[in-house]
Amino acid sequence: MAEIAFIGLGNMGLPMAANLVAAGHKVTGCDLVAGLREAAAKAGATVTDDPAKAVAAAEIVITMLPAGKHVRAVWSEVLPKAKPGTLFIDCSTIDIESARAAHAMAKAAGCPSLDAPVSGGTGGAKAGTLTFMVGGASEAYARGEPVLAKMGKKLVHCGADGAGQAAKVCNNMILGISMIGVCEAFALAEKLGLSHQALFDVASTSSGQCWSLTSYCPVPGPVPASPANNDYQPGFAAALMLKDLKLAQDAAAGTGATIPMGSHAAQLYALFAAMGEGGRDFSGIINMIRGKSE
Ligand code: NAD
Repeated sequence: MAEIAFIGLGNMGLPMAANLVAAGHKVTGCDLVAGLREAAAKAGATVTDDPAKAVAAAEIVITMLPAGKHVRAVWSEVLPKAKPGTLFIDCSTIDIESARAAHAMAKAAGCPSLDAPVSGGTGGAKAGTLTFMVGGASEAYARGEPVLAKMGKKLVHCGADGAGQAAKVCNNMILGISMIGVCEAFALAEKLGLSHQALFDVASTSSGQCWSLTSYCPVPGPVPASPANNDYQPGFAAALMLKDLKLAQDAAAGTGATIPMGSHAAQLYALFAAMGEGGRDFSGIINMIRGKSE
């Protein structure tokens, strides 16, 4: 069992760290927020508010932080304090440039590294059923795989440094676009006098089928577990979808890729967030779409 430092014990990091403890690893958790450190201690982790102390004895360091600037800051602070050879894994969703910069910092410090963003949300983090999209060298992946497998049920080694973030940004752009498409279809069906269930029964077994429809239906009824049945409580907050769509735009701008639908989806989620709905589940955008069509 490994000695693991886990930095960033928020909505995702805390349950992920708890799963590593439950799997028998020795986990030292670190967060700026005292209440989160207490919760991690209750789950069986050793805790500290000093990232440098957290990594001192670690064989593996995992970060789960809000954005690229936090990852760059934390990695540059703790890499000099870690033992050479310590495996660094960032599970946050961040811009590809920051991910590659973090890999470069680790390499310079003699530490192998992985970018390993996740999908599956807080439910997947608690249940240990996340999907990990991983970028980095094969040897680093081989070392990280058994630990990541304790927090997730599907791991994909996507390629070299930054490939995990690239996969994440592309996947979530599909998700943002497809959710808006499904919302528009239900809004149109309502105007046409077609019931939600009828549209669902047809589209879920026809060419309109997609995850936004069959697992995360944005109207109440057809998929009982979807946030639509719970006043659009997240789930996956619209603010996080907007963050990911902005990352896709940055990636497209940096590479010259053309993403007109991704850009439009980003604009619609920005509008939804500006209406004060950023804390709602991202499927709640159906209400804005309905309002616009009236
Ligand atoms: P969060 O804001 O709940 O947690 C981030 C934590 O990092 C906070 O507790 C914060 O105090 C801590 N932190 C920030 N700077 C720190 C520092 N210097 N030292 C120690 N701790 C520090 O965010 P989250 O929802 O857990 O998301 C984390 C990452 O996972 C984000 O990049 C997000 O985009 C991604 N993600 C989130 C979800 C989701 O459903 N919440 C799903 C997939 C991916």
